[in-house]
Amino acid sequence: MEIFDLTVYQLKEMMEKGTITAREITSVVLARIRQFDADIRAYVTVTEEDALAAAQEVDQRRKDGEKLPPLAGIPLGLKDNICTKGVRTTCSSHMLDNFIPPYNATVVEKLNKCGAVLTGKLNMDEFAMGSTTEFSAFFPTHNPWDLERVPGGSSGGPAAAVAAGEAIYALGSDTGGSARQPASFCGIVGMKPTYGLISRSGVVPFASSLDQVGTLTKDVRDCALVLNAIAGHDPKDNASAAVDIPDYTTFLTGNIKGKKIGVPKEQLGDRLDPRVADVFKKALDKLEELGAVVDECSFPHAASAVPAYHIIAPAEASSNLARFDGVRYGYRAVPDDGKEYDLLEMYMKTRGEGFGPEVKRRIMMGTYVLSSGCYEKFYLKALKVRTLIRNEYQRLFQDYDVLVTPTSPYLPFRLGDEVDDPLELYHSDSYTIPVNMAGLPAISLPCGFAEGLPVGMQLIAPAFAEGRILQVAHAFEQNTPYHQQRPPLKEKKGSES
Ligand code: GLN
Repeated sequence: MEIFDLTVYQLKEMMEKGTITAREITSVVLARIRQFDADIRAYVTVTEEDALAAAQEVDQRRKDGEKLPPLAGIPLGLKDNICTKGVRTTCSSHMLDNFIPPYNATVVEKLNKCGAVLTGKLNMDEFAMGSTTEFSAFFPTHNPWDLERVPGGSSGGPAAAVAAGEAIYALGSDTGGSARQPASFCGIVGMKPTYGLISRSGVVPFASSLDQVGTLTKDVRDCALVLNAIAGHDPKDNASAAVDIPDYTTFLTGNIKGKKIGVPKEQLGDRLDPRVADVFKKALDKLEELGAVVDECSFPHAASAVPAYHIIAPAEASSNLARFDGVRYGYRAVPDDGKEYDLLEMYMKTRGEGFGPEVKRRIMMGTYVLSSGCYEKFYLKALKVRTLIRNEYQRLFQDYDVLVTPTSPYLPFRLGDEVDDPLELYHSDSYTIPVNMAGLPAISLPCGFAEGLPVGMQLIAPAFAEGRILQVAHAFEQNTPYHQQRPPLKEKKGSES
């Protein structure tokens, strides 16, 4: 394997042995970006100089005999809704085209303390609304496994970058599946931790009762290492939980004998692509072979999760996005003749021009379901459905240690295929959305291939039981070859290096 194919812990070991420096690793990753990002388009902004300087500093500290944390000197990319002081943070929206945050998100502060090396900011669906990264206001990102296909979304940039070796790991966000589904489409590991485990201070909000920071890594051990570094209470985030954070690597025992795993049968219905179903079925056989007890179970309200989510998430988004008004920061519309719009006109033009079509659709939906008369009919009803979903999970976790589903019912779509059919696109998240509705942790990991494209399996656990899904995911991974496969990238457009 090449340097850019390696994991965090493999590179850490090499640096400790002195066979490679952080600067060398960073140069390799930057060269990879130069070589392939013209085809993949994962990056909105590359921070080459800062990355090399940060790597050099880590090398110096190591030389001085300092004992450094596992993430020190390892290049990572951040989804472009995570605020980075002095580095453009756009949410892939014209609204924030030129926004340079004056502060770092808490997760960025934590990574900086670890000596992490930021290579840049990664493309996403505008304001994290979407499942393909085609709703980026700048350009779509391509799937490294097949450049004609989408990498998933909304964290498509982060997932594609990690899969292509353009970052060793990445952070994204997950409101309804945005870390797990792109991880599944790109053949890597994506984790959405329990609501409240990781601070969202400095992460541009989409739907605050659902948003969580997510991790994108090449394998489960890397996922545990990144969680170790970024989890923990933060007074700057009201929803942050004051819980003890274990060392997540201690759960990677390789042993899952007797673990009870439930498969919600309602989630294996009509929508599931038979090619995904086939791969998933074999993965279940593997879990059984490893000593787990796999059983079908029932999750009757599964089908109500997507419609309820598409009431709650837009309602919260409409409120969160009210701040983009042309007054405080971000884009402001000005008339061609250089004169001033009156206030109302300025608001309307700014929001009309600054937001893309999907964001506007969600804002309209959100304000509608919150309007008087509709509130009870839609919003309140959706909240009740959410409680039912929570209760169902609680009931299931009395009988099962973890639940398992495919991560997505579909293989990665062809670019352009789904973008005009919002309802179909919304339903493609039907396995990931219920998890956010209940605030639970879930991981997606590679479980096989169909027609050369990766298929992901999702494991779900009770709140704050990340260790449980890491344990099962790790055991599965160590007994299957999928996490070691890398996309067969050949240069198309890019030839700068
Ligand atoms: N695809 C889902 C949506 O469009 C989830 C997005 C997300 O998790 N940010 O709402």
